[in-house]
Amino acid sequence: MNECNRRVFTLHVIAGSSLLAATGLQAQEKEVKVSSEKLTEADPYAKSMGFRLNTANADKVKFPRHDVSQKCSECQLFSGKPGEPLGPCSFFGGRQVPVDGWCRNFKVKKAKA
Ligand code: SF4
Repeated sequence: MNECNRRVFTLHVIAGSSLLAATGLQAQEKEVKVSSEKLTEADPYAKSMGFRLNTANADKVKFPRHDVSQKCSECQLFSGKPGEPLGPCSFFGGRQVPVDGWCRNFKVKKAKA
């Protein structure tokens, strides 16, 4: 390997390492935050989002487009495990919400390809 090739090789190694480090940081940032704390209907922010422990109790006057088929277990922001009654909601900082819960930020899960 001549001097020029060695320099180019070294620059590629440095660039590659930086890219890997940056990618690793991004992956860490995307990790879902999980809390053991249960979200309550009395929580001021949850209240402002119309959060209910059971979707059937959503305020139909305030949220006329709400439908009982909308529930946390069907929401993109829910990352609970199948069969578990509660799971983390990324919208509420990873706090635990019930599978049958609901809030106005409900986003239907995208179909898997
Ligand atoms: S954002 Fe989704 S998972 Fe979180 S409380 Fe609202 S409906 Fe449930």
